[in-house]
Amino acid sequence: MNITIIGTGYVGLTSGTCFAEVGHNVTCVDNNPEKIETLLKGEIPIYEPGLADLVKQNVAAGRLKFTTSTEEGVKNGDIIFIAVPTPPQADGSVDLSFIEKVAREIAQCLTPEHGYRVIVDKSTVPVKTGDKVEQTVRRYAPEGVQFGVVSNPEFLREGCAVDDLLNPDRIVIGSNDEKALTYMHKLYEPFVAPVLVTDINSAELIKHAANSFLALKISYINAVANICEAAGADVEKVAEGIGMDKRIGRQFLNAGLGYGGSCFPKDIKAFINISETLGQPFGLLKEVERINFDQADRFLNKIREKLWVFREKKIALWGLAFKQNTDDVRESVAVTLAQKMLDEGASVIATDPQGIPTAKKFSNLTGDITFTEDMYAALDGADALIIATEWPQFAAADLCEVAKRLRTPLVFDGRNLLDPEDVKAAKLEYYSIGRPAID
Ligand code: NAD
Repeated sequence: MNITIIGTGYVGLTSGTCFAEVGHNVTCVDNNPEKIETLLKGEIPIYEPGLADLVKQNVAAGRLKFTTSTEEGVKNGDIIFIAVPTPPQADGSVDLSFIEKVAREIAQCLTPEHGYRVIVDKSTVPVKTGDKVEQTVRRYAPEGVQFGVVSNPEFLREGCAVDDLLNPDRIVIGSNDEKALTYMHKLYEPFVAPVLVTDINSAELIKHAANSFLALKISYINAVANICEAAGADVEKVAEGIGMDKRIGRQFLNAGLGYGGSCFPKDIKAFINISETLGQPFGLLKEVERINFDQADRFLNKIREKLWVFREKKIALWGLAFKQNTDDVRESVAVTLAQKMLDEGASVIATDPQGIPTAKKFSNLTGDITFTEDMYAALDGADALIIATEWPQFAAADLCEVAKRLRTPLVFDGRNLLDPEDVKAAKLEYYSIGRPAID
């Protein structure tokens, strides 16, 4: 099929590439000319495992194109995806101006000669946005244009997006238009995954309800971790015991610094706002947010308690990305922690396998911060090591080397990455989340 994706970011680029990989002809549109130039040169603007090769192969096969022209995109695509940002506003509601703009632009490029078109929202949007997209396209398109609107929320995880897209747990398609559903079934035919067809409102709600539930699991285990700390228990064992119950499952029960990234914080805020707007306030989610917000501060207090003051302390920070296997530092707890320590006068030397360029470009960190590619060099003469992102290379660190390089052998592990037995053997003083300290 001929597909167009408007918005070539994390979601647009990865999903467009995967649609090309299964045989569709894809045009990816972005209004950022720098991004399109980069892609046309054969470079990839983001780090996502496996993506660079797939882009290269599908461009070479003639199935994947990039352009800044929405008009070209609309001309090429029988199915037109919208994958633009939906950032939060100050009151927690979603800024839908990017979606509205794209809906208008699509409408103005459509002509009756194009024939029937399907307009699919892949961005995460509040329930009833599909209705607004339909009204907007209807209002701005010339008379006689035929189209259907679909909600097809995206569930990919950054860091394993390619695999998530090619082998999804489920595909959710919401539409009130039978013809649009036929197109969507054909589009997803090459994928081996259960397809759930719903009305458009339900599909939109599924995305916010799913992300909120995952965030709830994270905050739940973090609250349990705090109880474990007070009681001298081990949250890793507790999580294992809970997770062995198939009704609960072990995934997303990892105690740590809480959730960050470009999706969870904004989506939970949005769902709280949506529930209030609909007159059904979702108080439970406010508590999920509060626990999450407090988690980084609790960790910082733990560090402060041992270091006494941050001023004139050199801190080695392992991790900048909001999670492993990505370069994305948007709403990263690691970055928040770094800024708080810098504000209190610490000097921070940070490392991350992929996040250094993005942190330099986007994180606005201010203060005495330097970066190094070498995770061990970051430790030289430092007063403490803080682990803030769960990269496997940090978990596999040579702890004797860590002890040798640190000025004082203090380690604060915000992701419970290290094995307490190894820590003991290396004679490190060690504080993690919801596990007994080793001092
Ligand atoms: P992103 O910022 O990485 O990409 C969005 C792209 O849209 C940018 O490249 C931007 O230049 C482009 N854009 C903006 N306005 C445009 C316009 N008028 N015409 C053409 N291009 C335009 O964002 P993202 O992370 O890909 O997220 C997009 C949506 O998908 C959001 O709603 C997000 O919540 C949702 N989502 C994200 C993820 C994720 O892991 N990143 C997962 C699931 C859903």
